[in-house]
Amino acid sequence: MIPLFRAYPALQERLPYAPLASLPTPVRAWDALGSEVGAGRLYAKCDGESGADYGGNKVRKLAFLLAAARARGAREVITFGAAGSNHALATAIYARKLGLAPILMLAPQPNAENVRRNLLRGYAAGADLRHFQGRRAVSRATVDEVLRLHRETGRRPYIIPAGGSSPLGTAGFVNAALELRDQVAAGVLPAPDVIYVASGTMGTCIGLLVGLAAAGLETRVEAVRVTVAPFTSPEKARHLFARTVGLLRRADPGFPDLAFPETRFAIRDEFLGAGYARYTEAGVAAVDRIKAREGVVLEGTYTGKALAGLLADAVAGTLEGRTVLFWNTYNARPLAPAIQSVDYDQLPAPFHRYFVEPVQALER
Ligand SMILES: *Cc1c(COP(=O)(O)O)cnc(C)c1O
Repeated sequence: MIPLFRAYPALQERLPYAPLASLPTPVRAWDALGSEVGAGRLYAKCDGESGADYGGNKVRKLAFLLAAARARGAREVITFGAAGSNHALATAIYARKLGLAPILMLAPQPNAENVRRNLLRGYAAGADLRHFQGRRAVSRATVDEVLRLHRETGRRPYIIPAGGSSPLGTAGFVNAALELRDQVAAGVLPAPDVIYVASGTMGTCIGLLVGLAAAGLETRVEAVRVTVAPFTSPEKARHLFARTVGLLRRADPGFPDLAFPETRFAIRDEFLGAGYARYTEAGVAAVDRIKAREGVVLEGTYTGKALAGLLADAVAGTLEGRTVLFWNTYNARPLAPAIQSVDYDQLPAPFHRYFVEPVQALER
């Protein structure tokens, strides 16, 4: 049983949950990097291993969201994101596992090797890949598409929000914080003073913040911005925190009525660079460094920027003597076996450009 349900048994009766994730995810010491940068103790929470077929932070959210789709009787799910979205790909892979057909609405983004791999993997998973471009937001276009499908075919796909960051998806990271508390209690690591995590649509950092408060841990969360507002913003943080606590309290009145922990949360704006999925010198340097020191593969859109934030604070001396946890949100499972037999010209034509055009300069 997941720690969230063990702590608040009524939630198990009231919240849909499909055991898609391999939990708990391991914690590993990053001693080489830790001693090099002068952090007291440095650990990584390895959510890259959160699923057998595909890992990363989205699996924890989808365990709730896809179960909700099934509980509603949906046969299809639709979600949206940028062309190389890890969330869209995770949705495709795990929807299929539950017998749901995935539709992915994908908006343009800066080119990268990851975009190519994720598109091929989504195709291999049998997703219906749709290129979306236009002045309407992709979220709005998705709602229009669902209405059109219903009108013309009677189909009613279940909508999964961007990044899976509804209150229900966010509950996946409330559980993750309770899982961390159990690992602390078991002596796997000391209670961290601070967690560094990338913030895209905020479900990850805010779910952790709710869960840490519920667990009575005084850990600070440094949410390293990788998107612009409204995807990441102080207002969104407070709103999602309150809505997630509200959802959990409605489902189990025993869940505490938590106030937003103002002094234990910060959005870090310095590492975004030119925008979402645009690599930065600091982010790429962080990716190279962790590969060299710990043999861990990160990427430039999310985790490289989050690690750049940690490294900058280490240089500034604020991590001395502290226990620091890097929440690694990036898939660690290989995609190559599933995409070997797929050629890009099998994809819908609007996606071919990612394979013809060069990747962005910092990746070359
Ligand atoms: C989606 C994603 C994030 C951001 O998570 P949010 O919950 O959307 O803030 C971080 N890292 C990786 C690798 C991701 O795919």
